[in-house]
Amino acid sequence: MALEENAELRETIRKIALLNAIRHDGKAQVDPVIGKILGEKQELKTRVKELSALVNDVVREVNNLPLNEQQRIVEEKWPEALIKEKVEQEKRLPSLPNVDKYAKVVTRFSPNPDCVLHLGSARAIVLCHEYARMYKGKFILRFEDTDPKLKRPVLEFYDRIREDLAWLECKPDEEYIQSDRLSIYYEYARRLLKDGNAYICTCQSEHFRKQVLASKTCECRNLPPKKHLAKWQGMLEGKYKEGEVVFRVKTDLSHPNPAVRDWPALRVIDAEKYPHPRVGSTYHVWPLYNFACGIDDHLMGVTHIIRGKEHLTNMVRQEYMYRYLGWQYPEAIHYGRLKITGASLSKSKIVQGIREGIYKDWDDPRLATFAALRRRGITPEAIKKMIIDVGPKTSDVILSWENLNAYNRKILDPMADRYFFVENPIELTVKHIPKKFVARLNLHPEQSERGFREYIIKPERNEGFATFWVSKNDVQASKIGNVIRLMELFNIKMEKVNMYSAEASFISKSYEEARKAKAPLIHWIPVGEDMPCQVVMPDATTTEGIAESACKRLKPNNMIQFERFGFVRIDKVDMKLTVYYTHR
Ligand SMILES: [Zn+2]
Repeated sequence: MALEENAELRETIRKIALLNAIRHDGKAQVDPVIGKILGEKQELKTRVKELSALVNDVVREVNNLPLNEQQRIVEEKWPEALIKEKVEQEKRLPSLPNVDKYAKVVTRFSPNPDCVLHLGSARAIVLCHEYARMYKGKFILRFEDTDPKLKRPVLEFYDRIREDLAWLECKPDEEYIQSDRLSIYYEYARRLLKDGNAYICTCQSEHFRKQVLASKTCECRNLPPKKHLAKWQGMLEGKYKEGEVVFRVKTDLSHPNPAVRDWPALRVIDAEKYPHPRVGSTYHVWPLYNFACGIDDHLMGVTHIIRGKEHLTNMVRQEYMYRYLGWQYPEAIHYGRLKITGASLSKSKIVQGIREGIYKDWDDPRLATFAALRRRGITPEAIKKMIIDVGPKTSDVILSWENLNAYNRKILDPMADRYFFVENPIELTVKHIPKKFVARLNLHPEQSERGFREYIIKPERNEGFATFWVSKNDVQASKIGNVIRLMELFNIKMEKVNMYSAEASFISKSYEEARKAKAPLIHWIPVGEDMPCQVVMPDATTTEGIAESACKRLKPNNMIQFERFGFVRIDKVDMKLTVYYTHR
């Protein structure tokens, strides 16, 4: 079909052009409209020339209207789009401090690939990414994988983390892996030793702790740099076993927080016992978090560190090292904790649950991992919007699943097609149907342009009956003799209900009559136009039922709403439909 004859496409272009015009004093621009259409309808990428002619045509039409007329049309036809626009314009993140000091804003997200990502990481990812975009800067992904012993990285998680970021539409501009950078860390370690700003401590840890708590030096601290450089060489050559030696950065020994005093920067890990999944047993001297992270932030040109306030002490530690190396510490923004009630965000609990088989996989619907949220049909837009609304404030924020669901519902409601699903199905026979009925059920109640599905109810010639699947709960709630309306079809009177079947008689077609009789509206599926359907619920239980046959055309990842049941994500379509329940 020629694009210009596609009325539905033309209408979509008109909507986008009108919205664009309203934002630009009544004059829509062609290119952003084309861009938006191509974003939504990938299949048109091969027909850009034709599309651009059509868009030009529609934009000309739209631009001929006065601004108030443009607004009126949108308010009347697509009020939800206008609300969305408004929210998007209003909700901007507060500006970052001292942006003018830097040529380019650079942020980073630095996960340890020892677990998959979950909702608890969303704040760091979204804020860092959004700020980089807001200032046309750079967003870095850095894998902090330098603890092969206690926070052992796992190969598959590097990819899973990349996937999660891509899904969140927070793709990094650059990527680094710390286990590739050991020689860089060694070089700076040597420099700190040479300048007398760090030392190799070979005391027993208990002894060191006692000294430092009393603001006293240990025996190693004041040895000349030359001696420390020799010990460092010994450390690299494997002369010390795990636990025998610690590389420490000097600080003020009277710093009020003892945890800051002469913090550990590198240590020996038994490389044979704890090989690294990427670099094997090549290294046995590994940097600790503050050292590697501090060096990298400077070398990678990070201008704004945006992270949780639990990192405040780390900044204090790292600032000593920055001073020694003559570096300027980046701007640091420390936000408060974000808790989601009812979501387990503990990495160790997730990993343990998987190991013990409590959770089937990383995307088990009970988990708050991104993989699970994705499978359940939570959209990345909803997560982003929620995080941006919360912003980078320092106070703690407690949200619930219901908050996230509300964001998600707002996104799904205008885009999800509607279908019927019958839970606890029971066969209902309706008698005395006088003629053939054609039920046209709109895919969306407010957007008839999205199309419909059609079911023909043709009564058996002599007896005039037809059979339907309806929910047992619906018919059992209704007394014998009561009127019920089969949505968008006709009204019936209940005559018999038992465990396995029900009977009713046709009364009338008009909706008015049903309204007057205060008849409940129930959904239905003609027997023979059905397919079995399994719904996986958020608690990992399953509900079996029947979906209408039109669902056969759905594809995995489609989001739909089962009317009077809830939004679901299509997981699998074959003889049986498998869906994941998102929320009401
Ligand atoms: Zn010592």
